[in-house]
Order: sequence, then C-alpha cells, then structure tokens
Amino acid sequence: MSTKKSIKTSTPDIVLIGAGIMSATLGILLKKLNPAFTISIFERLDRVTAESSDAWNNAGTGHSAFCELNYTPQKEDGSVAIDKAIKIAESFEVSKEFWSYLVENKITGAPEEFIRHIPHMSFVWGEDNVDYLKKRFDALTKHHLFQGMKYSENSAEIENWVPLIMDGRDPSEAVAATRMDLGTDVNFGALTRTIFNYLETQEGVNLYLNHEVDDFKHESDGSWTIDVKDLSTRKTQKVRTPFVFIGAGGGSLPLLEKSDIPEGKGFGGFPVSGQWLVCNNPEIIERHQAKVYGKAAVGSPPMSVPHLDTRVIDGKKALLFGPYAGFSTKFLKNGSYLDLPRSIKFNNIKPMLAAGIHNIPLTKYLIDQVRQSPEDRLAALRDYMPQARMEDWELEKAGQRVQVIKKDKKEGGVLEFGTEMVTASDGSLAALLGASPGASTSVSIMLELIQRCFKDQAATAEWKQQLQKLIPSFGSSLAEDVKLAAKTRERTTQVLKLSASKKEQEILA
Ligand SMILES: Cc1cc2nc3c(=O)[nH]c(=O)nc-3n(C[C@H](O)[C@H](O)[C@H](O)COP(=O)(O)OP(=O)(O)OC[C@H]3O[C@@H](n4cnc5c(N)ncnc54)[C@H](O)[C@@H]3O)c2cc1C
Repeated sequence: MSTKKSIKTSTPDIVLIGAGIMSATLGILLKKLNPAFTISIFERLDRVTAESSDAWNNAGTGHSAFCELNYTPQKEDGSVAIDKAIKIAESFEVSKEFWSYLVENKITGAPEEFIRHIPHMSFVWGEDNVDYLKKRFDALTKHHLFQGMKYSENSAEIENWVPLIMDGRDPSEAVAATRMDLGTDVNFGALTRTIFNYLETQEGVNLYLNHEVDDFKHESDGSWTIDVKDLSTRKTQKVRTPFVFIGAGGGSLPLLEKSDIPEGKGFGGFPVSGQWLVCNNPEIIERHQAKVYGKAAVGSPPMSVPHLDTRVIDGKKALLFGPYAGFSTKFLKNGSYLDLPRSIKFNNIKPMLAAGIHNIPLTKYLIDQVRQSPEDRLAALRDYMPQARMEDWELEKAGQRVQVIKKDKKEGGVLEFGTEMVTASDGSLAALLGASPGASTSVSIMLELIQRCFKDQAATAEWKQQLQKLIPSFGSSLAEDVKLAAKTRERTTQVLKLSASKKEQEILA
C-alpha cells in the first residue's frame, strides 16, 4: 500500500474520507458504475482499516439477525417483533451477493480469506427467557430467510452443539438455544484491504495515507473545497470536488458539523468503548465452533450483548468473549479525549442533554462496566462458560463506537443504536453516523447512498444494468421473493464456500 505524499488530483470527481469498509464499498461500487470517475481517498492513519473495520476491533459477525436477540424485541403484548430482523437478514444477503461478485471476478482472493461459515446460535437460561426464545423461533421460522433454524431445550442436544457452554452447568436450570447453520464470521479488515488494493490499481484512483481532512467549504456552484492536512509535512492542501463521502467512522460527526449542511444540525454522538476477553488456550479454542449470542443485561446498550465467538483471523482460529462496554470521550480508538467535548455545539446541546436524561440506566450500566474487576468479568464469562478460568483469557481493547443522538420532537433528543445516513439536499455530500449493524450491511447502505446522491445516473438503464451485474437481486426484494431468495442463497453459499463442514453435518444428524 503506497503512502503518496503530494496530492495528484486537486479536482477529483469523488472524495472519500476514511479508509474503512464503508469508503471501500462505496469506492468500488462507484468505480464499477462509472470507470471514468476519478476518486481520491484520504485516511488520517498510516494504513487502511485500522479503526472499527479492523478484524480485532469488531466482532466479525455477519449480522443476519439469526442470533442477535436485540434485533427481535418482545412487544408489550408478549409477541416478538421480527421486521428489523428481516431487513437485516435481507441486507446481509445483498452483501454476500456483492462479495460473490468480487470473488468470481478475482477482485479478492479465495473467499475463506475474509468469510467463513460458522453456526449462529442464541442461548438463554431461565423460564422467561426460554419462553421468549421459543416465541422468537416460531415467529422467525415462518419467514423464508430464517428457514433451517433449529430450536432446542434439550441440554444433551445443546451440549452436542456447544460443549463449552453446557460443561458444569446446573442440570436443573431451564435452558434453550437456536442454531442457524448459515451463519458467518467475516474478517471485514481483510475484505477492506483487498478492495483498497484493487482500487489502487484502477486508473484515476488515489489513496492518501497520513492525510487528515480538516475542514470544508460549500462553493456557490454546489461543489466542495476540502482542506486536507498531510500529517507528515503538516502542510494543508485544498481539494475541490462535486461529491464527498464522510466515511470517517467515529470521526464522521465532527466532520459533518464542519460541513455546516442544514441536514446535519442537531446530531450528537455518545461514545461507547469496548473490550474483549481473548482465549489463549488452544484446547479450549478448538472445543468451540459457533457464535453464541445471549440476552443483554438490563440497561445495557443493545450492542453490548455478550457473545462467545469463534473467529478465524488471518487463517487462525480464535475465541472471543464480550464485548464489555466502557466509556471514553474519544470518538476513534486513535482519537482525542477532546472529541466529545469539541462535538458539543449550540444546535445539539439540547438533544444531547435530553438523551442523557432519558438514558440514566445506560449511564449507570456504563459506569458499572468501567468499574468491573477481573473477577466481575470472569463471572460474566462464566454465565456462558461455567468452567472458564481466568488464566486462559486475556483482556484486549475493541473498537470505539459513537452512537447517534438525534433531535426528537417529543423527547427533545434520543439515543439511537443503528446507522444514520445524512445527505445534503443537493446530493453533494453524505455522511454515515452510528455503528450497528454496521459493516455487514455496508453494501445496502452504499446502494441507498447512490440512490440518494447520484439520483439521475442511478435512474439510467446503464447504471441499473450494471447494478444487476454486481448484485443480481438488485431491484427485487429478497424478503418478499421466496424463489429469488433461495436461488440467491444457493449461489452465494457455493461461491463463498459457506456450506456446513462434514463434521458439523454429523453433529447435527
Ligand atoms: C466493538 C465493535 C464490534 C462490532 N461488531 C460488528 C460485527 O460483529 N459485525 C458488523 O457488521 N459490524 C460490527 N461493528 C461495526 C463495524 O465495525 C462498523 O460499522 C464499520 O467497521 C464501520 O466502518 P467505517 O468505514 O464507517 O469506519 P472505520 O472502519 O472506523 O473507518 C473510518 C476511517 O476514517 C478515518 N478517519 C477518521 N477521521 C478522519 C479524518 N478527519 N480524515 C481522514 N480520515 C479520517 C479513520 O482513521 C478510519 O480509518 C462493530 C463495531 C465495534 C466497535
């Protein structure tokens, strides 16, 4: 990866700020839609994908809502809402379609370099939770995207699926689990790197590392003048472009504020840091083969749902537990403690205060998490792995998330746990805020951005045809079209090599 110093094109067609999965996805989609586009990518760090998109900074779950209970909340009448789960499952299918195109066209290497099949499981204990999981299973399996999911309250069967979770557990405890074999573990860092490697070989694409975007000016002709500081020479250069994407992860909010677009007013950010326990005992790592998600503790943010997770990073199997949430005023792992105070402006102070007042349980939860001792962390791990020993685990820092705070007519301000795309009314600028379901749905998010910001081109037959080449289901709904969903899954499972192994099929037989 080159570290080009001087900016070659001062008037690119497209500027992408940040070299994470979002900019990578948008960059390659746009280049495929119009090969003549010139694209400049600015990244403040000395390598690509060193923040949230790096493999060790996120959980690598291909979010399909198979196992994540926070996507299927229980309603007041006791039934389980599944609309969000369907949307996420559909989005992930779209991501797999695009990644299949990348594999088939040799833009990436072998699929196992970035995606692996791994069963996705939910595991709960206690009568109420068992009741909830059964209702969730019944509701989800009526929809074709969740067919193939298995449910069990039988300890012996669950032990067969995940021995570490059942070893040493009180046999009188009510337990239940679901298992979906179509689950995945994704190394978003590896995927992002291959996309940038490919983009760098393309005519008119320039990636500038160690280059930080500092400021913006919206010109009278609708274009943007961007101040880019070369962090090695401390020199600032100006770049003019008709379109800019702020894909700066946690750094997106301060940049959106600087853009001064009316659509960006009133947003605030609430940073949540994370930590994992990483297993260092190869025998234990070998005994687990699933991503097992549980129920979030009361007051905890949805993305802090604990999970015991098999990962494969750079060909090596690993086992993670967490995340343990925490609080830091930084917006990026490599950010500044002044990020949060600097982001508070006249136009967002009211929503931020209101969101704070309405989220006292969350604040309390985060304070408790920060004060956790190693014994507290072990106790949380033992809920999932009763025989866990501290000496087999090491504490590591995960990535930083910035949850979105939005203006709200009724509450004054609300804290959101999803992703929020903000676009200028003339389509000349877009910014992505928030973190969940994040990288897994990057393709759908960027398709939505293209529809909003490149409206005229996206309406042409040429772009539509090209989009269908990249994503064959484009223009149809995989959530509604049962046959198309089956055909699509068959293709992506084969191209991305996502079938269950022989050993797993034996376990399930
Ligand atoms: C603990 C944790 C667990 C997660 N688990 C999952 C999961 O299991 N599955 C999933 O799908 N998603 C998960 N996510 C979310 C996912 O990681 C993110 O949605 C995704 O990586 C965001 O990609 P991005 O490109 O927007 O941001 P990033 O990958 O953070 O990239 C932004 C880049 O912008 C750069 N930058 C910032 N400011 C500037 C500036 N001023 N100028 C130039 N460059 C700048 C940064 O250095 C960085 O490289 C998780 C996130 C966290 C933190």
